[in-house]
Amino acid sequence: MIRSLTGSVGENGKNRPDDVRAVYALFNRLLSVQLEVRDICSTELIRAIREFQQDFMSRPDGRIDVDGRTWKKLTAAVEVPETEISGSVGQGGQNRSRDVRIIYGLFNKILSRPLKVSDQCTDELIQAIRDLQKGFLSRPDGRVDVGGRTWKRLTTPAGGTGKSVLLSFDDGPAPTGPLHSILDTLDHHGIKAEFYVLGQEVDSHPAVVKEIAKRGHAVQNHSYTHPNLAKGSRSFVRKELEKTQQSIKKAAGVTPTKIRPPYGAGGWSPYDRELAAVAKELSLSIQNWDIDTEDWKSPQGVGPSKQAMIARQFARRQNQVELNVLMHVLQGTADDLGDFIEQLKQWGFSFAQP
Ligand SMILES: [Zn+2]
Repeated sequence: MIRSLTGSVGENGKNRPDDVRAVYALFNRLLSVQLEVRDICSTELIRAIREFQQDFMSRPDGRIDVDGRTWKKLTAAVEVPETEISGSVGQGGQNRSRDVRIIYGLFNKILSRPLKVSDQCTDELIQAIRDLQKGFLSRPDGRVDVGGRTWKRLTTPAGGTGKSVLLSFDDGPAPTGPLHSILDTLDHHGIKAEFYVLGQEVDSHPAVVKEIAKRGHAVQNHSYTHPNLAKGSRSFVRKELEKTQQSIKKAAGVTPTKIRPPYGAGGWSPYDRELAAVAKELSLSIQNWDIDTEDWKSPQGVGPSKQAMIARQFARRQNQVELNVLMHVLQGTADDLGDFIEQLKQWGFSFAQP
């Protein structure tokens, strides 16, 4: 349920902080580029209101009045009736207007680039249905049937309800080009991730590491020089991890709480003894991954050629509620990240906070 406004929001509105925040949140469910949620009504928010009003007002005024037309349109666009559809929707479907709106609403919960909600089934909607079906039907038909597989998939998405992924990126901060691109994509989707960085690269690019932390991501320890820690002596392991702790602290002002050993070596239970001892001394928990995207393998990235392999790994971990997904700071991964996030959403995952 969406709570009502206590006063108008927008251009010349009363703009009470609670109301303003609620309106930001509503727009962020509709818009692909997220607005920063604030207590005050920004010009950006007024612009969003005006743009929204353009569809149904000849003179958009940039203001949402309590229970006014803009409010009704906005809440209708956002609110998804969680009921059954009465007939099929999509290619060759019955496409009753109420059913069509329900399907739009369900897609807009899983897509970050929302579809424009209407009473008509558009080609765009049929394409979205097909894209969803590609994950589980050999012959996507672009139609949602009452109680059918696609309906079930839409209402209880793939991975099952309540499952989440935690995205993690190893071997940064360099190369910094792909790193910045990854940060921008994560911001765009409002996702926070883990970055397991190398101490020696942190020393070369301290400002970038600070940026990772500033944007709300977790900066974690991936050793200083990327050696196989399982083969090192205790003093060697200690030097690798401690130096990295210091470099990160110096660069970003944060103290890592997790170590991911390079190659995962020694990081699977039973842990390497020296690694486990040093990690304990430095108050680090050892964190390997659940899903290996193999993004470093040619062709690099997390594109279509990796999807089936990744899907199989998820399928093997049906019972796990949160899964850590391993990627690397690479150009190919940066290029594919937006689409990969869309895929994870279509599979029904939400994104865990690091
Ligand atoms: Zn690594």
